[in-house]
Amino acid sequence: MPESLYNILGVNKNADKNELKKSYRKLALKHHPDRGGNKDIFQKITDAYEILNDDNKRKIYDMHGIEAVRQGMGGPNDANDVFSSFFGNSNFMNMNMNNNQNNQRKEALVDEIIITMEQVYTGCTINKQYNINCKCNKCNGTGSKTGKCTTCNKCKGSGVQTTVRRMGPMIQQMQTMCSSCKGKGEIINDKDRCKYCNGKKAVLTKKNIEIKINPGVQEDEKIIFENNGHYKSDKSISDLVIIVKIKEHEKYKRINKSDIMVYHNISLIDLLTYSTQKIKHLNNKDIYFSSSSLIDPEKSYKLVNYGLQFNNGNTGDLYIKFKIDFPNNLNTNNNYKNTLKEILNQDYSNYNIKEENIKLLIEDFDEDIQDDDNDEDVMDGNGVQCQQQ
Ligand SMILES: [Zn+2]
Ligand SMILES: [Zn+2]
Repeated sequence: MPESLYNILGVNKNADKNELKKSYRKLALKHHPDRGGNKDIFQKITDAYEILNDDNKRKIYDMHGIEAVRQGMGGPNDANDVFSSFFGNSNFMNMNMNNNQNNQRKEALVDEIIITMEQVYTGCTINKQYNINCKCNKCNGTGSKTGKCTTCNKCKGSGVQTTVRRMGPMIQQMQTMCSSCKGKGEIINDKDRCKYCNGKKAVLTKKNIEIKINPGVQEDEKIIFENNGHYKSDKSISDLVIIVKIKEHEKYKRINKSDIMVYHNISLIDLLTYSTQKIKHLNNKDIYFSSSSLIDPEKSYKLVNYGLQFNNGNTGDLYIKFKIDFPNNLNTNNNYKNTLKEILNQDYSNYNIKEENIKLLIEDFDEDIQDDDNDEDVMDGNGVQCQQQ
């Protein structure tokens, strides 16, 4: 027996449309191929939603099973189509122009919001103003003074005209906007038309939206304000979907969902003396730390639980990579040098080579030069010279 469509959507048999929608939205976001999900699972979820969300198909499915529905459907719908009816396509502030009532598209009003790593760490609330088509209060969203409108004769209220085209062995159904009612499905008498919204049923209104962003928010995470988008002529209200984008930070970098990394400059003397270091974290608080062994700039170190912090109590770690700041000058006193050698406990080779046979090393400022073949370009004269002893 095939898996029940209710199981696929994770809802019970009495689930209403709202529950179906919620569950589908959650699963579709999780399994969308663009977000790394499995294409087949995504299609399965979408098919299940398509059937259960249609009263007629749901009834047939409940009584006769999936095969009975499939026979009447003529093939599954494009999963991406259904998905975009939820979340809008990639167009910024996209408005759905398709008012076809049979095809219950509910395209979202989509916007992007750019936040900093500091805001990712602490969470934040952003107030933003949107121009939203809100239901006209004067005509209660009907577009007419009397609230009456006539169903369009040409399209019988569907707002679309369907033409069938044969392309070789395929039959293609084309849907175009009804030319008579401009896709509205209904015609409002000129005299009866609401003056306030000019029959459009909605009025462009400035709306302040408070966007709450949780700590640890992910790049491209969607914050959905249900029924906060545009009022549509079919009396539905689209969702407002805010997509979170995160600005790059000059020091802090997110390395996965919960861990972050920071580059820290440490002076050579601090490194050699294990001195306590300070960094300003993303919440502007200072963290003090030190190492009990000699820090190796090739390695990563971490401060446990100083990564991203989530509302559910989970925390990540803060990884630190060190960059050594070398002193400009060293005291050339031989006693100091010998003491240093002693402290570092290293066996440094001493070459017994005549002074005139030792070449001078010249610092090269051209960072582009990587290989030895380009030594014609090496600057000379301006470099810092250091003589090997
Ligand atoms: Zn029409
Ligand atoms: Zn009106």
